[in-house]
Amino acid sequence: KAKEDGRNLYRFFDRQMSLHMSERLALESELRRALERNEFIVYYQPQLDVHSGEITGMEALLRWNHPEHGLVPPDRFIPIAEDSGLILPIGAWVLRAACAQARTWRDSGLLDVQMAVNLSARQFDQQDLPELVASVIDGTGLPPDRLELELTESLVMRDPERSSETLSRCKALGLKIAVDDFGTGYSSLAYLRRFPIDRLKIDRSFIKDVVDEPDDAAIAQTIIAMAHSLRLTVVAEGVEDEAQLRLLQRWDCDIYQGFLSSRPQPADAITSLLLGMKAARVSSLSPPASVF
Ligand code: C2E
Ligand code: MG
Ligand code: MG
Ligand code: MG
Repeated sequence: KAKEDGRNLYRFFDRQMSLHMSERLALESELRRALERNEFIVYYQPQLDVHSGEITGMEALLRWNHPEHGLVPPDRFIPIAEDSGLILPIGAWVLRAACAQARTWRDSGLLDVQMAVNLSARQFDQQDLPELVASVIDGTGLPPDRLELELTESLVMRDPERSSETLSRCKALGLKIAVDDFGTGYSSLAYLRRFPIDRLKIDRSFIKDVVDEPDDAAIAQTIIAMAHSLRLTVVAEGVEDEAQLRLLQRWDCDIYQGFLSSRPQPADAITSLLLGMKAARVSSLSPPASVF
């Protein structure tokens, strides 16, 4: 009996695994076609000054608009794109699309801020990454200091010497570097500071319970203070409510990003938002009729 159960269990796993495997393969070949079929879309999430509420940047976040499954979040397909190497053409496409969009907003006079683009391990390992970035900057005409590359802490720490060299070559182009998901790895801030980086993004997991968990609050507050003493700016990710924002204001965090201000949205929706903000600004500047 036990043996039979074991065999069933084995078959169960076997079936699960082959399903998994064929799913993976199907996904991979669909991913391969997705670029040609123009199924990728970049969403944008504003980054705001903690004190003034002004928009200081945008983060480009990739989505896959699948013909059957609808909008697929990046966590569902980026690992497979990474394994298969497809992340290289996909990542180059995101970089180009985000820089072109930043240039469009800049030219329209609606928004002239930094565009942050996420890079994965495979992209970071690419020997000619700096050349690729340079060609995108040239091609789109975005001023280099308006581009920021986001790399996770664990990625930067994986091969410190190599990272240092790649980051320096990128920095030489005039762009900015942000360390994403900070606090989830094991690196010390003091060590990380030896890399040519500009800002830290405190991982969402610390912000989530910052109001109720004294430990998370202590960690967030310490990261902010230490980052400032090392002349880095700090972004808090995943800010969802006013109470979290108030703490970040009290601790003098620089920038926040999260559902509280805006979910990631397609470029058109962001453009409408910016137009609305501009209209509100203009009407508040024009003198009220009662002045006379
Ligand atoms: P990330 O770079 O740390 O991006 C932040 C994630 O938090 C985004 O998820 C964003 O939608 C989500 N988020 C923002 N505000 C809030 C909030 O207030 N609450 C909650 N619960 N979540 C919030 P998303 O867009 O699903 O992206 C997940 C991850 O996928 C990103 O994490 C990044 O690591 C990766 N990714 C996204 N786009 C790209 C890309 O173009 N290239 C590469 N290589 N990776 C990407
Ligand atoms: Mg990011
Ligand atoms: Mg992050
Ligand atoms: Mg992340």
